[in-house]
Amino acid sequence: MENYLAELNDAQRAPVLHKDGALMVIAGAGSGKTRVLTYRIAYLMHKGVDPFNILALTFTNKAAREMKTRIASIVGSSEAKNLWMGTFHSVFAKILRFEADKLGYPNNFTIYDTQDSQRLINAIIKEMGLDKDVYKYKQVQSRISSYKNSLITVKAYFNNPELMEADAMAKKPRLGEIYNEYCERCFKAGAMDFDDLLLKTNELLNRFPEVLMKYQERFKYILVDEYQDTNHSQYLIVKALSDRYQNICVVGDDAQSIYAFRGANINNILNFQKDYDDVAMYRLEQNYRSTRNIVHAANSVIEKNKSRLEKVVWTDNEDGNLIKVHRSPTDGEEGRFVASTIFETKMQHQIHEGEFAVLYRTNSQSRAIEDALRRKDIPYRIYGGLSFYQRKEIKDVLAYLRLILNPKDEEALIRVINFPSRGIGQTTVEKLTVAANHYKRSIFEVMENLDKIDLKINSGTKRRLDDFITMIKSFQATSGSLDAFELTAQVIKNTGLFQLFKKDGTPEGVTRMENVEELLNGIQDFVDGQKELADATGSISEFMEDVALVTDLDKDTGDDDRVALMTIHLAKGLEFPYVFIVGLEEDLFPSAMSMNTRSELEEERRLFYVALTRAEKQAYLTYAESRYRWGKLIDAEPSRFIEEIDDKYLEYLTPPVDGSYRYKPLMDTDIFEDVDKSKLRLNKPVASTPPSHHKPSEEKLRKLRKLKPDLGKPSSLSNLFDSDMNVGTIVSHTRFGRGEVLKIEGAGNDKKAEIRFEKGGIKKLLLRFAKLDII
Ligand code: ATP
Ligand code: MG
Repeated sequence: MENYLAELNDAQRAPVLHKDGALMVIAGAGSGKTRVLTYRIAYLMHKGVDPFNILALTFTNKAAREMKTRIASIVGSSEAKNLWMGTFHSVFAKILRFEADKLGYPNNFTIYDTQDSQRLINAIIKEMGLDKDVYKYKQVQSRISSYKNSLITVKAYFNNPELMEADAMAKKPRLGEIYNEYCERCFKAGAMDFDDLLLKTNELLNRFPEVLMKYQERFKYILVDEYQDTNHSQYLIVKALSDRYQNICVVGDDAQSIYAFRGANINNILNFQKDYDDVAMYRLEQNYRSTRNIVHAANSVIEKNKSRLEKVVWTDNEDGNLIKVHRSPTDGEEGRFVASTIFETKMQHQIHEGEFAVLYRTNSQSRAIEDALRRKDIPYRIYGGLSFYQRKEIKDVLAYLRLILNPKDEEALIRVINFPSRGIGQTTVEKLTVAANHYKRSIFEVMENLDKIDLKINSGTKRRLDDFITMIKSFQATSGSLDAFELTAQVIKNTGLFQLFKKDGTPEGVTRMENVEELLNGIQDFVDGQKELADATGSISEFMEDVALVTDLDKDTGDDDRVALMTIHLAKGLEFPYVFIVGLEEDLFPSAMSMNTRSELEEERRLFYVALTRAEKQAYLTYAESRYRWGKLIDAEPSRFIEEIDDKYLEYLTPPVDGSYRYKPLMDTDIFEDVDKSKLRLNKPVASTPPSHHKPSEEKLRKLRKLKPDLGKPSSLSNLFDSDMNVGTIVSHTRFGRGEVLKIEGAGNDKKAEIRFEKGGIKKLLLRFAKLDII
């Protein structure tokens, strides 16, 4: 047996060695599905399959790179280079670059990101004079996106009375018109949005049999990871491409299907056996990732789902620690708990920050965690959220580059035509847009032909528009002889962006400048890398292609030794020794938006299953009793998902009593006698509930404060019931800064203060929780 095949168990080896034809591996988390895919590719190459004929589709480009590295170590790197691997979006964007002209798009088409799409849709809604409270642009965008992913084109939409009726019922009878206008405008701008990358690929393969045949021949072997999360559009692409040879291998786990809200279709798994002849089914049961406690706990939760395929997951790994559950009074305290625990665990076990991950349901939860980590000087990295490439200053620079590559790109043009300010006003831009729509030309073309049409633009403005065009064209002229770095450096200098950022001496301005420098560093890095490749030059178009499709998970900074913060959706497929799942509260996780139907709730439960199964050694489940949401302090209840885990896998940690955050397991039942059980929704034995001094009485607190004057200085315990606080007192708050107390009302636990903050305006805070210091 080849050496590498010995690194698989028998159940894994079978699908790896499977002869040609269709095969599917459905198995639970951590059982080696991704490993099977990787080794199968190596095996195929060993058997003599040309790597040019293999296509592997993964969830992130990072995952593809990791697989490639592993394969390279088995078969040699020169061969592995020729494999086609990446996400659906990146692979098919590349194919569309070759074929776009067939669909009437320029080959250097722009890729609009979600922000671009939303901005355009917003503009259309305005132009059509629709009520923006009814036609909410984000909603409209996601509706259009879901049409595209179900392959419902504008034409198909207008042929489908049911869909039109549904939109009319939702008070949006003109949605189809917006959809139509949006598609026309994208087309005119030579732009595809993310969903187009799949939709247009489908169109290409459907309309041009010779193209379909070319890629069927090209990709004789197709492998798909995370198959449970493919949407209809992706499914059809895979089906079309694999139709000829049927050498298709998909791996997935129905229990980890978490993108139904974006159109992922679990039926893709269920129908696989019908779609291909002679499908071989494989199951893997042994989990290699996590301790036995984690595996069993995860099983005990997912069992609650009614719609699922029966599966066994077991492990030979040791029992490991129990899963630790922690309750905090506020989200701020939760952050502090996470930070201190990371700090202490790191010291105790001499491990690195890179071994920890903090997972949350929504991006906005990261802030409290970040604050706490920063205060403890723990390095971290946020994945997702506002990514580097979505920051305004970066998008401004990139917009210039986009325009140089594709002058039809309207979103880019509108972004920079008057930035830095060059005296081209909003009215002028509107006139240009109207003319462009009228003549069915791009704004850039209209600007080039200003002499031929009468737009009532004064001569001064005309000159400025001319200057702008000349500048862009001069960049275009030099772009052929410069690499991406040189060109970008010129753009930043000659457009006045550099001077603008430099002049702004505020901290925000400095950050912007640093970000632009970071962008230049990144481009230089990219150019150096590209220049090593035979068929690349490091040109700006290569860079832009790369940038349009990076997800945050893809950016390899080479500095991975940081705590990873990300949403659970992004964590799929990854693993970390220590995992914190934070914000386990009803209405947050499960999300309030996903509790209307059983199937939504089951998707939330699968999400929890994904989260828990990321952990190798230790999982922490944390929740807060109150948290800031939508600017208000909201009471929260523990998530039902904690309740659903069999108690024998859980350990409850004590809340802090002495101001330090050192947590001990609760063993002694006696101290829980005075617990107010009505407050505890968790259906647990008394022994596992937190002690009463969690919320100290006023008197007790005073005593404690006398004993330890600096008790809880940074925590919410400070000033809890402090009588020093009166109308007129000046306080300081970690988030809102300095403020003046305007009013005090209520008493004891309900005592509230109305405070006018310098940063946050007037807020009413419950003093029990407010993180206030009196200045
Ligand atoms: P997920 O469902 O989360 O995507 P998966 O089924 O793809 O998980 P892998 O990521 O392939 O699982 O494997 C989980 C971990 O177990 C990895 O660290 C992998 O290297 C390890 N592993 C898998 N199979 C074996 C094996 N036979 N021997 C040793 N380690 C293994
Ligand atoms: Mg995997």
